[in-house]
Amino acid sequence: MELAIQLKVLAHCQYVARHYSAFKGSIESIVSFIAYSIGAESPDPDQLSVFLRRPETQRTLETNYETALFRDISKQWHLISLAPPTDPAVCRRRLNHRPTSPGTQCRWCYQDSKGYAALELKPELDVYRNPVPASFLHPQCFRPWLAMRAIVERENTS
Ligand SMILES: [Zn+2]
Repeated sequence: MELAIQLKVLAHCQYVARHYSAFKGSIESIVSFIAYSIGAESPDPDQLSVFLRRPETQRTLETNYETALFRDISKQWHLISLAPPTDPAVCRRRLNHRPTSPGTQCRWCYQDSKGYAALELKPELDVYRNPVPASFLHPQCFRPWLAMRAIVERENTS
């Protein structure tokens, strides 16, 4: 795939992730959303699938496009937007919201790891490195979550 097309695919991954906030399902579904988003110029699904499965692509998405794309232990794919809200009031509301299954649900993306929670989610730690009660997240989801904490913190001290 040419570089110009790769950049286009990455940008559309970000756009689709923002649209859905957090999608969980097959790689074929994610490929079809992205192909639809790109339109007539889209590479064919097989090419997209190969490109998206590459660890390098997933790293680039996470680092430069505020987007997590990964496969979990039960072989489901996740496409998650890692863009934190900019409004401190929205951040505060989200930080105070408790998921319905706090032991197995990621606090950022709300996806439920069920029986694999101990393997897929990590506990949030407070400033003293003690676990925050009932607060677990995917490693990828920590960045926006902690960004929201920082936004609220700044608001409180200003
Ligand atoms: Zn998550």
